[in-house]
Parts: sequence; C-alpha cells; structure tokens
Amino acid sequence: MRGGEVPPPRGGRSGVKVPPRGRAVRVRPRGGKVGRIHVLKTGKKTGRSRDLSRKAEAYLEKLCGVRPNRRTGSPGNREAARFFARTIGRWGWRLDTTPFTCLDHRAGKAALACGGRRFNVLISPYSNGFDVTAELVAVSTVKGLERCRCMGKILLMRGALCKEQLMPKNFVFYNPDRHKRIYALLDEKRPAVIIGATGRNPALAGGLYPHPLIEDGDFDIPSVFCTDVDGGEIAMLAGQVFTAKCAARRIPATAWNVLARKNPGAAEKIVVCAHIDAKETTPGAVDNASGATVLLLLGELLEGYAGRLGVEILAVNGEDNYTAGGEMDYLRRYGGELKSVVAGINIDGAGFREGSTAYSFYECPAPLRKTATERFRGRPGLAEGRPWPQGDHMLFVLNGRPAIAFTSGGLPGLMSEITHTAGDVPGVVDCRKLVEVAKAIRDLVAGLAGGSESSPPAGRRGGTSRGGRTAASSPTRASGS
Ligand SMILES: [Zn+2]
Repeated sequence: MRGGEVPPPRGGRSGVKVPPRGRAVRVRPRGGKVGRIHVLKTGKKTGRSRDLSRKAEAYLEKLCGVRPNRRTGSPGNREAARFFARTIGRWGWRLDTTPFTCLDHRAGKAALACGGRRFNVLISPYSNGFDVTAELVAVSTVKGLERCRCMGKILLMRGALCKEQLMPKNFVFYNPDRHKRIYALLDEKRPAVIIGATGRNPALAGGLYPHPLIEDGDFDIPSVFCTDVDGGEIAMLAGQVFTAKCAARRIPATAWNVLARKNPGAAEKIVVCAHIDAKETTPGAVDNASGATVLLLLGELLEGYAGRLGVEILAVNGEDNYTAGGEMDYLRRYGGELKSVVAGINIDGAGFREGSTAYSFYECPAPLRKTATERFRGRPGLAEGRPWPQGDHMLFVLNGRPAIAFTSGGLPGLMSEITHTAGDVPGVVDCRKLVEVAKAIRDLVAGLAGGSESSPPAGRRGGTSRGGRTAASSPTRASGS
C-alpha cells in the first residue's frame, strides 16, 4: 500500500496523539529549540546516565505492557508504535509512519479428542478455524507424506518432518526447498486439519516448547501443534476417528514502521534499526523492546545532531511476523536509497542481564570497522561477538551494505530459555546496558559524521527541525527535501 491512501487512525485508548499517517512530519523539539543547529556532543555525565537508565526502564515497561501483545497488526502493536513515534517525535526527528496492511488473528482454545481421550494442542498462529471429525493419519518423513492419503482427514506430522518450523510460503529472505516441498505436498493432499508435533529448537523457535510447525497467514489449511511427546501418544491411535475443533478468525489490520530521520537530504546515511514487534507468546523484553528502547535513548542523545550524514532511526515492525511486513515495506519504499547507507546498525536481543553486550560486523570496510572499534573500546560492557546471520541487519548485508549488530553475549542460553516465552519480561533486562549501547552508537555516529557537523553541506535542509510540517511522503520527495 502506498502512503496517503489510508486515513490516519485516531489516538488509542491511552489518548496518545499520533502524527497523521502517510506523511512525514517535523515535530517541534522540546524546549522550543526550533531551528538551532547543535554540534554533536559526546561528553559523559553520570547523572545523565542514571536519568537515561530510568527512562529506559519506563520505555521497556510501556512497550512490554501493551495488550494483548506486540504481534504486528495487533492493538498492542499499534499502541507500541504510537508510543514510539510520540516519544521520539519530541526530539526534532522527521517521522514517517505510513501504514501497510497485515493480518491480525483471534482464536479460541483448540480441542482434540479420540474416544474418551483428550490431547493438549494449541492452534497455530494465523490458522483458520475448524470443526472436523475424521480418521487420523500419521507421517514422520517427506517420503511418508508423499505416499499418504489424507484428503479430508486429520494429518499428524512428527519426527523428522517437524525438526524446524516451516518457513512461511511467501517468505523471501530464507526459504529452503525442503519446506517448499512440504507445503506443496500439503496443498496437494489437502488434509482437513494438520497437527504438528514439535520438539525444542532454540535457534529457530527460541525457548518455546512446543513451537508451531506452521505460522503462516498465507496457508489456508487449519493447523494445531503439540509436543513431540504428545505426538507419540497420538500416533499410536492412527487409523482411529478423532474430533478436532477450534474457532479462529483472520482479521485484516494495519501496522507501520516508525522511521525517524535527521538530515534526510544528505547523500549518505546511517540507519539504526530495531524491531518493535514481538511474538504473541511473549512480552518481548529482550526480544526486542530493549532494542526499541535503545532507539529511543539514541533519539534523545542525537536531539541536536547536525552532522554531514543523514541519520535514520527505524523501529521496524515485522521481524517476528510471517510476512516480515515492516522489512518488506521499508525495502519497497526506501530500498532505492540503500546504496547511500554507509552503516546499517541493528539492535536485537541486547540488554540481557547476564553477560556482556556483543557487537558483530558484516561486510564492513576496514575504516568503518576501525572507527567502530575505537568508539566502542572504552565501554566495559561491550565486546566483539560472533556474527549471527539472522535479524534485520541482513536487510543491509543482502543488499551489499555494511552492517553492525548488537545483541547479548549470552545469546545461546538466552535463546533456549527465554526468547519467545512468557519469561522474556523487563526483569531480565539490565537497562544500564541499553544506555551503554545507545551511547556507543551515538559515538559511532559522531565518528562517522566526521568533523563537519558544524558546517553541513550547502543546500542541506534537514537535521534540526524548524517546526511546521512538510508534505513529503514518498521516498523521492522526502529525500529531495
Ligand atoms: Zn528479535
């Protein structure tokens, strides 16, 4: 959807005022410092750190406290995005909050029974509803699926077939042939309902057990999931008649990224991003309210930014969504500008209370690496970690742009215990670490913006706000302003 075609939603229950959708706005900074050009300051003040740490706690609480959750397109997700825009808008950033369409989902409790026995199953996210009485067929390999006859029946998938969650049908960033083959077979065989029995898979599903085998609003056969242990019990009853029932509804909805910019007319820019959405199963503190919190801290630290580079702060809305809606929307509308990105910085999974914060480099030229290393060196909580090729920094890397990612050094443990679970609450985050990351990024921005902060290139009109609004909404118009 193009910007400007959707009427601006009103403020939410909290009475939050939101900028009109579909256009970039300049927001008057606090304190009436309209039109002043500041040289970026990098001085340290302990008092300010404490103050920022307290603000970080408040941001984190707010972002994790929205209801029902921050799943892209849910009411909580929209509330979080409004809060983010309203907060960062105080510091003179030019905002773009153009909506895109997505699906929300509502479902009741799923039931599965055979004779007098009931089994614990959960409906898959975005699954259609169902009410079926039919024979159960069980398969555990692709070969078995190829051979089986299950049209109109209840199909139990388990074992090797369920090693990992199937990538959504239309997911473009990563989609193995094996998953496409399984989807093609399911479309051909047309079972009435699918049961996916899954084990633990921290790398792809975080600490969630069981995890959905299917999480895809573009796939219409209803599905539920259960543990591999329950799957074993169910498989022993193959050939018998089961009843399966759940009410569910897919709801057309909208969501939006919050893109905040300084100096949007510059020839080159730095993009700092973090995903603001979360899985429905979690308050999503480390994943990734902490990243969005770093962006807000950075938004304040760069309030007076007037360097030669453009700076974009991007709260991207879709990293944990089956469509990657926010990422796709950003590529659609700003992809043409990716060649001007000198560094794409992503924060995801940072601030875990245990261990240090890990930064990692992706396709970074030597001078960028050197500047970053120098700027990060004095911060005791930061250490270089191993690259991890998942997450929104890949938006830049896949487009040939250099990227830096921040996450928690204890990531493997974090992923297997906490990520995507109800345990990912603000209490597992150390907000001082978020302040440290925000300051490290501010210092890197200062290092990259060079010594020309005080003498912006002729014709530069962005940077600090002069109040008022611009009508720029499309990337071309916005970048020309
Ligand atoms: Zn994440």
